[in-house]
Amino acid sequence: MTLRYISTRGQIDPCSFSQAVLMGLATDGGLLLPEAIPQVTARQLRHWATLPFAELAAEVIRPFADETDLPNDDLRRLCQRSFASFSHPAVTPVVRVGGRAILELFHGPTLAFKDVALQWLGNLFEYILTRDGGFLTILGATSGDTGSAAIHGVRGRAGIQIFILHPHQRVSPIQERQMTTVLDSNVHNVAVRGSFDDGQRIVKALFNDLPFRDQYRLGAINSINWARILAQMVYYFSAWGQMTGGDPQRPLSFAVPTGNFGDIFAGYMAHRMGLPVERLILATNRNDILSRFFQTGRYGSDTAVATLSPSMDIQRASNFERYLYYLLDQDGAEVARHMAELERSGEMRLPEAKRVEAARLFTARAVSDAETLEQIRRFHQETGYLLDPHTAVGMCAATEFPDALSLATAHPAKFGEAVRQAIGQEPELPASLAGLLEKPSRCAVLEADPEVIKAHIITTLAAA
Ligand SMILES: *Cc1c(COP(=O)(O)O)cnc(C)c1O
Repeated sequence: MTLRYISTRGQIDPCSFSQAVLMGLATDGGLLLPEAIPQVTARQLRHWATLPFAELAAEVIRPFADETDLPNDDLRRLCQRSFASFSHPAVTPVVRVGGRAILELFHGPTLAFKDVALQWLGNLFEYILTRDGGFLTILGATSGDTGSAAIHGVRGRAGIQIFILHPHQRVSPIQERQMTTVLDSNVHNVAVRGSFDDGQRIVKALFNDLPFRDQYRLGAINSINWARILAQMVYYFSAWGQMTGGDPQRPLSFAVPTGNFGDIFAGYMAHRMGLPVERLILATNRNDILSRFFQTGRYGSDTAVATLSPSMDIQRASNFERYLYYLLDQDGAEVARHMAELERSGEMRLPEAKRVEAARLFTARAVSDAETLEQIRRFHQETGYLLDPHTAVGMCAATEFPDALSLATAHPAKFGEAVRQAIGQEPELPASLAGLLEKPSRCAVLEADPEVIKAHIITTLAAA
């Protein structure tokens, strides 16, 4: 049986897993999804709970790609390689602290949960490109975290060049160094004299430059790539196994700090595959477009405001359309209609019955900066354990669900300033960050002009 990929807007010819990974965004503007969701049995669930992370990953991912497209041995090797870069033997361990369960997702090379997806995506890109004889120029703008996880995911990989734009002197020194001290010849950091929005505007302009995009095979690495969702599903199964020992009668709730709806959508998909999930607690900061949707059925954008959990300062959640597809009974035309409505009026509304349906699984809450700091302070005082601000948002949203597992999406040392505000001192730097400021670095500093950046990419690639 072959599993093919379709668009949430229903307007593309079904394609293979590899094609879906390289395509990123569907050509009709929608997002890619498998045309059916593979199902897991109780027996499999019990077995999966006994597997080490990389083996579990191969099992979870297996039914989403055809054997002919991604042979078993290759898949297993890819999974082994992708998660070997994590410093913890369990990759994503569950720890129990002060009566709460915490899923630590920050043991990868850049100490944030995005490593789980991007270590795997980097390996997968290289595998597909080497096999099919292609190349890819990844271009992205970052406000800090995604860029470094992406760079660490593709550094040194055959067939891939990566250009990451960050706002000059407007990311934290650690974030800057996590990117610019990667000296592999395929990694190109650009500090843009401007804001993060300037960087995004430039990236958008270059993706819209179709001759340039085609000639250099520009690729994106943002959270719309289906392969990222797949890798994130794995830790929901892993965490459930660690918590329940693999007992299919024991459902679990997850508290998920949410920005682009990627992480929590992976939990939704795991649930749709058959993972026993009681509740998905969707936590946002003051940028609450998602929590408002689950409370009111209205989805409308606002301007993003800066908070202490900057990786969630997002006004339009790019993965939300995937959930919408299922909520609208897999009707691509309906999804397209709602997205057009959002585009036109800045808001879409769903019928009350749909909101009620969504509320059976999702509980949503927005958390203020003051609550975030208080959560960090109190939890530290009671247990000695330091939460990063994103994790604190999730745990705070789950106050009424003490049995829920909190996803810890970043190491507190990455957000030392917020931690200092909460407890009066910065967290100790882990070994992998210590010494970072003294390491040699490489970065071009350029004007915030698409033509300048384009010329830089062309000359850099000509010399590569
Ligand atoms: C990206 C990020 C999030 C939000 O994840 P989404 O998949 O965008 O919802 C939360 N915490 C941290 C630390 C992040 O980097």
